[in-house]
Amino acid sequence: MIEQEMDFENRIVSPEYNYSDEETELSLRPKTLSEYIGQDKVKDNLSIYIKAALQRHESLDHVLLYGPPGLGKTTLSGIIAREMGVNLRVTSGPAIEKQGDLVAILTSLNEGDVLFIDEIHRLSRNVEEILYPAMEDFSLDIILGKGPSARSIRLDVPHFTLVGATTRSGQLTAPLRDRFGVLLRLELYTPEQLSLIIIRSAGILGIDIEKDGALEIASRSRGTPRIANRLLKRVRDIAQVEFDGRITESVARKALSRFEIDELGLDDFDRKMLTTIIKNYGGGPVGLDTLAAAMGEEAVTIEDVYEPYLMQIGFLTRTARGRCVTPLAYEHLDMPQNPNSRQQSIF
Ligand code: ADP
Repeated sequence: MIEQEMDFENRIVSPEYNYSDEETELSLRPKTLSEYIGQDKVKDNLSIYIKAALQRHESLDHVLLYGPPGLGKTTLSGIIAREMGVNLRVTSGPAIEKQGDLVAILTSLNEGDVLFIDEIHRLSRNVEEILYPAMEDFSLDIILGKGPSARSIRLDVPHFTLVGATTRSGQLTAPLRDRFGVLLRLELYTPEQLSLIIIRSAGILGIDIEKDGALEIASRSRGTPRIANRLLKRVRDIAQVEFDGRITESVARKALSRFEIDELGLDDFDRKMLTTIIKNYGGGPVGLDTLAAAMGEEAVTIEDVYEPYLMQIGFLTRTARGRCVTPLAYEHLDMPQNPNSRQQSIF
């Protein structure tokens, strides 16, 4: 079990932040909406709301960003703060343990500041309750003392903008979700958009790359900028040590096959998951919890981290009765489709 968890953390195509992203994550983060590539609908909406708030000299409405990890939610919160000309304060649901932690953060904000809470669905109920009046009326109801002598005081906090990030908006409690004025969903990026992100990052890091080399890396990056940037750095190492340093299409292809990432960006875990569904469950339908147990992984990780990409490329479907592998996946894995599989019998 421990071994599997470690494997997951070190997985080169994991969309979640890991230590190898640390050195470059900051320098590669776009700082303005115009530098932010893709997500046109989100950008269009945001730029209108930002302009309107600036014209009225008000703080921006609270914003909820949702979508799989590594798509640019933290980056967007920084851009919002910058475009609004205010400070950004970053924290996360699990980091705010007690009500007092949140009170301390809220009372230290300046007027208009952006407070970014990553993984906001992981806030405890207790802490969430403090947030409701803070978001709605910019005030805090604090109970002092215990028992009959307890009394409640009301404290004003500056007008701030809460930017919450979560992998799925459905994970939030209804009272919290209802308090966000702006709900924006981030989508996986296309290979073309990712190749632009890779070319931009290569420019910042001084990496020599051809357009086709960028596209080759992009098409294996699972729709996720964080993975694209990580693969770019790993491919650069190989290009430098084994070739002349320039990332061409063929150098990218050779380097990426070394990491056992196939031409669609699938790694061992994806292939194992698809073959498990095929071999053990006749291609599906198989329930999420059963699948998670078979893979030794948490159901929420399978749902948020692995499945979005497999669904985007049409290899997996979610049905009311469970997960099903599609004929496209059989073809990719070079596995014959069993005419008597359970999946066939339900269609
Ligand atoms: P999330 O908060 O959704 O997990 P981040 O905002 O931390 O994702 O983004 C991960 C990395 O991907 C950032 O360091 C940034 O360099 C890059 N990135 C994300 N979105 C974009 C984008 N639209 N354009 C360029 N780079 C991006």
